[in-house]
Amino acid sequence: DDEDFLYRVLLLGDRGVGKSSLVGIFAGVSDKEESPGVDSYERTLTVDGEETTLVVMDTWEQDKLEEEDVMKASAYLIVYSVTERSSFESASELRIRLRRLRQADDIPIILVGNKTDLVRSRDVSVEEGRACAVMFDCKFIETSACLHHHVGELFQGVVRQIRLRRRGPCGG
Ligand code: GDP
Repeated sequence: DDEDFLYRVLLLGDRGVGKSSLVGIFAGVSDKEESPGVDSYERTLTVDGEETTLVVMDTWEQDKLEEEDVMKASAYLIVYSVTERSSFESASELRIRLRRLRQADDIPIILVGNKTDLVRSRDVSVEEGRACAVMFDCKFIETSACLHHHVGELFQGVVRQIRLRRRGPCGG
């Protein structure tokens, strides 16, 4: 069982919100794996002094939500663009669908508001994003893939969230 050191993270969200861009920054030096319906990238990160291999998958087809790759993820990033309210609404719908699909599992979900660099076109405030995350009982972060802002923090945060769920707060 590789589950202790290999975590699968899936990005979900409307087309154009910046999923591929975020994954591209994460992927950095690593190779791209091919698998049908999903682009997947693997990288080993050191978080809090401990190495973890993260396999990040960028799904572009929401229809694939019920497929095996999706169901076996250790965490989900639901991405929207702060410049597009419809993508924020889609994020809520995705959260509801995920909860239904994996209701028995305590899976970390992080709500990600991307494109914060586009200050003048902002359509969803940071307060709204935060409130939504509270309502959906998940973590929240705003990023700019363009400026690489908070992207490292995002993936480190995912690793911490997964570890916390797996091992409990004392690391056991
Ligand atoms: P995906 O369809 O969700 O994978 O979105 P992409 O990563 O392909 O990004 C869609 C478009 O948004 C591309 O033109 C990106 O360059 C742009 N984009 C992605 N992230 C950002 C960001 O943080 N800021 C800005 N200004 N543009 C971004």
